Amino acid sequence: MRTMRAAVIEGPHKISVKEVPYPTPGSGEVVVKVEACGVCGTDYHILEGDFLSPYPLIPGHEFSGTVYEIGEGVEGWNVGDRVAVDPSVYCGKCYYCLNNQGNMCQNWNAIGVTMNGAFAEYVAVPAKNLYHLPENMSFQEGAYVEPLSCVVYAMRRLKIRFGDKVLIFGAGPMGLLLLQAVLKGGASEVAVVDLAEEKLAAAQKLGAHKTFAGTAGLKEQYPLGFDIVIDATGVPSVIEKMFEFAGNKAKILQFGCAPKDAKVSVSPFDIYNKDWEILGSMALLFTFHPALNLLKNGVVTSGVLTTKEISLDEFPDYLSKPKDKNDLKVLVRPWK
Ligand SMILES: [Zn+2]
Ligand SMILES: [Zn+2]
Repeated sequence: MRTMRAAVIEGPHKISVKEVPYPTPGSGEVVVKVEACGVCGTDYHILEGDFLSPYPLIPGHEFSGTVYEIGEGVEGWNVGDRVAVDPSVYCGKCYYCLNNQGNMCQNWNAIGVTMNGAFAEYVAVPAKNLYHLPENMSFQEGAYVEPLSCVVYAMRRLKIRFGDKVLIFGAGPMGLLLLQAVLKGGASEVAVVDLAEEKLAAAQKLGAHKTFAGTAGLKEQYPLGFDIVIDATGVPSVIEKMFEFAGNKAKILQFGCAPKDAKVSVSPFDIYNKDWEILGSMALLFTFHPALNLLKNGVVTSGVLTTKEISLDEFPDYLSKPKDKNDLKVLVRPWK
């Protein structure tokens, strides 16, 4: 039997690199040889067992690579094509799919979340999930198309108004992509809060007007609050706090993924009295094309967001350790 190497999560807190069967492409599928796959907060959730992932699972949903083998019935793709892959797998038949709301699919699946993913040498994916990587785009950049397409989706939900003042909690990779997006989207001033100095330095480099290590001083500098407040941490105590900085008529965007049963307290009187809009943003919805274009044209950059590249063998150990608070995105390169 043909095999490949992959990082397999066998149960909560159990991950190792093993020889597993090579993923022979089914009908309508291609096998992608993985060149770069980003480590994401979701991977930590899956390892900890607080996501609805089945085990054993090969995680990895932010990836790029080349087409390696083509399954039956696939047209328009050639071996060697450089690609980014939309991990979303919608059923196409449920109420939401048939209402153009695939990210709400009642049978929602995603490569690397509920199906085997790309922390592996190879991954089988539906051909309809493939997007060509532009010629000038590296595989490393290609690994950012998925997270950026989540940001594009969020921006379309947010409908920023030209000149808005924006506050972002969290200067991780997503916070820093959101920062660039709101700056290009018309924000007149963006403040970013995080506890890690290196992340705040990255935020400044990317154009944040003000950065804060915690919320001290924020109220004093912005007594009327912000037009837009965004959580990109998923941390319930931070989320509860962000409402304090929402001004009158503010939009409040919950972008970060909080633990499933977390609760925060918010004043319904404030929601009413201040004309607030509270928005969610679930993953992405056919936003790969704009994300690719934003990266291709340098409207959004990913270069400063990569802390380091590691091998497949280094990945289980990296994911098992508590995350270094100064780490931004780490990319796994199975063939490097
Ligand atoms: Zn992700
Ligand atoms: Zn569906």
